Amino acid sequence: MMNCQSFRDRLSLLCSDEPEVFRDEAFRLHLRVCPSCQASAEEYREQHRELRRFASEQELKTRPLGLWRAVEQSLRTARG
Ligand SMILES: [Zn+2]
Repeated sequence: MMNCQSFRDRLSLLCSDEPEVFRDEAFRLHLRVCPSCQASAEEYREQHRELRRFASEQELKTRPLGLWRAVEQSLRTARG
């Protein structure tokens, strides 16, 4: 059985745009039974949606690198 810590480690993969996490049975199972991780997942999903919107505005979505890294990079560029 997956614990909350390893669930949250995987949850961070959601934000780096790694769809493999959805195919992980243990991950989905834990999400189904753990209300506290459901709440975290919901939070992450919200953040991810924001990032996606931002990334597409910046035309970064075609980049193969992780979304977070792309966003960081573009923030750095924006700051000059
Ligand atoms: Zn949990």
